[in-house]
Amino acid sequence: MLQHVECSIGVMEHLTGQTDLRCGTLWAVSRTLSLHGVGARNRPRRWCPVCYAEQEMAEASEPLAWSIRLLQTCPAHGCALVDRCRICGATQLDCDALVQRRQCRQCAASLGWRAGSAHLAQSALERWIDAQILAIVRYAADPQSAQLPSDAFHRACRVLRCIPERWAHVPASVRSRLRTHTQRMLPPPVLEVLLEVAATQHCGVMALLTAPEAIIQTSLWPDATSAQDAGLRKPAIPLLRLRALLDHLLDEAPAAYL
Ligand SMILES: [Zn+2]
Ligand SMILES: [Zn+2]
Repeated sequence: MLQHVECSIGVMEHLTGQTDLRCGTLWAVSRTLSLHGVGARNRPRRWCPVCYAEQEMAEASEPLAWSIRLLQTCPAHGCALVDRCRICGATQLDCDALVQRRQCRQCAASLGWRAGSAHLAQSALERWIDAQILAIVRYAADPQSAQLPSDAFHRACRVLRCIPERWAHVPASVRSRLRTHTQRMLPPPVLEVLLEVAATQHCGVMALLTAPEAIIQTSLWPDATSAQDAGLRKPAIPLLRLRALLDHLLDEAPAAYL
């Protein structure tokens, strides 16, 4: 599947003569992360009502980030992403053509309206999740970004395992998987697992994937104030809260985490 997608991107770039089409996809992290479900076309579409209200049809586009279910707010406006018409409550399909996407498919009302920032209503943990997802999307959108290798997460876990104080905070499911995969590589994690491990290490997901050696050079609790600001006061609490929050955001039963 992954090879098929990569091949399709290559074909599109060849046909169009544009070499940066992959920057509009998650190609740069597609080997490192299990992207199952991201952008799934059978799920209700999500959108920013302010973006729809402000964009002219001629410049219509939809940010890739909207398709990542864990992202709660619009990167441009900070308002909550929505998935229902505010008049009739109908969900919208992701397969609708771009020209039809601003009108409700059931009642034809506009799907664009004014909305205020949702950041103040978010918890520190929710804001942190949004920031991490945007960091991933920014990396994928940068033409200078190399495609991350498929073993980036495995490598980060092996580095963390060298520091018992850090390794002890890594989710037990990941620790046991690494024990049974000492010879073979850990499969690429789903986004929730990557967020969980990064949260327990008080680092960003991109730092974890690209520079784990730099992370372990710092203290796990360098600054009580910043840890408090991030809503991560004790190692055991954020993981439980984060897990519950991730399940809530995904609106589904806890998944197999690896
Ligand atoms: Zn917006
Ligand atoms: Zn409607």
